[in-house]
Amino acid sequence: MAESMHAKRTDRCGNLRREDVGRTVTLCGWVAKRRNLGSLLFIDLRDVSGVAQITFDDTVDKGLFDKANGVRSEYCLCVTGKVRERGTDENKKMATGAIEVLAERLSILSKSETPPFEITGDCNAGEELRLKYRYLDLRRTEIKDCLVLRHKVCKIARDYYDANGFLEIETPMLCKSTPEGARDYLVPSRLHHGSFYALPQSPQLYKQLLMVAGYDRYMQIARCFRDEDLRADRQPEFTQIDLEMSFVDVDDVITVNEGFLKKVFKEVLSVDLKLPLPRMPYREAMDRFGSDKPDLRFGFEIKDITEIAAASDFKVFRDAVEQGGTVRGININGFADKISRKEIDSLTEFAKTYRAKGVAWLKFQGGEISGSFAKFITDEEKLKIASAFGAGGNDLILIVADKPKTVFASLGALRCEIAKRLGVIKKDDYKLLWITEFPLFEYSEEEERYVAMHHPFTSPMDEDKDMIESAPDKVRAKAYDIVFNGVEAGGGSIRIHDADLQERMFRAIGISEREARVKFGYLLDAFTYGVPPHGGMAYGLDRLIMLLADTQSIRDVIAFPKVQNASELMTESPSEVPEKSLLELGIKLADEK
Ligand code: ASP
Repeated sequence: MAESMHAKRTDRCGNLRREDVGRTVTLCGWVAKRRNLGSLLFIDLRDVSGVAQITFDDTVDKGLFDKANGVRSEYCLCVTGKVRERGTDENKKMATGAIEVLAERLSILSKSETPPFEITGDCNAGEELRLKYRYLDLRRTEIKDCLVLRHKVCKIARDYYDANGFLEIETPMLCKSTPEGARDYLVPSRLHHGSFYALPQSPQLYKQLLMVAGYDRYMQIARCFRDEDLRADRQPEFTQIDLEMSFVDVDDVITVNEGFLKKVFKEVLSVDLKLPLPRMPYREAMDRFGSDKPDLRFGFEIKDITEIAAASDFKVFRDAVEQGGTVRGININGFADKISRKEIDSLTEFAKTYRAKGVAWLKFQGGEISGSFAKFITDEEKLKIASAFGAGGNDLILIVADKPKTVFASLGALRCEIAKRLGVIKKDDYKLLWITEFPLFEYSEEEERYVAMHHPFTSPMDEDKDMIESAPDKVRAKAYDIVFNGVEAGGGSIRIHDADLQERMFRAIGISEREARVKFGYLLDAFTYGVPPHGGMAYGLDRLIMLLADTQSIRDVIAFPKVQNASELMTESPSEVPEKSLLELGIKLADEK
């Protein structure tokens, strides 16, 4: 039977320390562990702050001891007792390990079924089971620590941006659908049959309208929705720390955000970030790392050997260059002896998933040069390649010859994969940088037109504006991403605030004047009433927390996450709704084929 609390809670379990010795405390929590040693019985009582050891002594109170003996894992208890020193039994691994509470009273607030999995750190239950019983999974310290960290970062964000003059303003959840970008989550309207709201993919247009309205520094911790097929680190609903500023250019946005990052790193990880953070133009990042989110915790930089390759007798290289391709590689310096032929084959298979047709290699070991194409090139060419990579000693060069896109994608992925396999990434190494000068457009093969790489409101760089019509692929944007250990943690841009330029931008991506009016008429109208120069950015909060917590799964940092097929296992959403609800919405389901 459930009992009431016999006294008011005085403390949280995890907060008790040696200074509390002698106090009589009342704790409430769940049974993490129970050990009966004959005349002594120990219960580790857990609440959100941590765990305290409660001791029941048979010789002090037999009735109480017997009651405690009937308690099982995850029972919810209220315990009163005196804090005493553990002395030589101190457990240095526990925050409360110096003390224990000698129980005087015990109420069983409620019993618990045997949990479907053990609620411990090294819990080896499958994720599906853990997510079905997420409320039990959330009791685990590992998940709880992530949520506490998340809370801290949100608080730092609110405090920091507030101190810098930002106002937190909420924007709507029921919005107008904007087909540009990812797929919208649609919400049918009951009052307007056949019409739909969209859940926001981001507060982008509203925050720009707030700038027109004169709220010159805005921030929001905003939920966003994108109905896309999920990748491992994506969720259909996710959270952004979103902000926008007026009367600014790129440097201003970056500077204010570096201040935020510095505070987060200091307060959460006790790490002093050195400011300003490095910046790297997109082009350089692609050339050196094959990625617009380079991981700088290790080297293996990409080098271009197209010229040497084009002049060689090696047909694979020559053909690739003749077809407009490029020949580049990475030097896994100092690791030739650690990468066997079998490993190279496996890396080649890996590169093929990035469309590379193969990987050519050269090994430098004991003064000898060997490799997949060593016999097709002259000694002089070998030396030229060695010098291009600064290779010698115990080095392995991996080369891909293909279309530039394939070469960058496969080498970029290879350098990360190899670093992971070799275990060269140090723990607690934090490498942050800004990637700047992104291309304004990217060509969509699927749609056979240029599309905005960031979004259509992103401003081109001043010196590139004239090329929008003549050389769209050369135009760089005032766009920037913050990259954290090889992951994009956020990004944004300075926006277009000039009607003519906006019109040229729409035209360049094939949006007619009429279409622009239908989709964004309200924004274009607003821009006729005095629009300040403005720009901003958004952090992916979930990803940021995942990086700070150094956890592998984005689901660890979200209280109630969805799984790969966008369903929630605990509530079993999405679910069918009664016919009546559909009728109200004017919706009839199509017959399933
Ligand atoms: N709205 C953008 C995004 O969601 C961020 C920004 O440009 O501020 O990526």
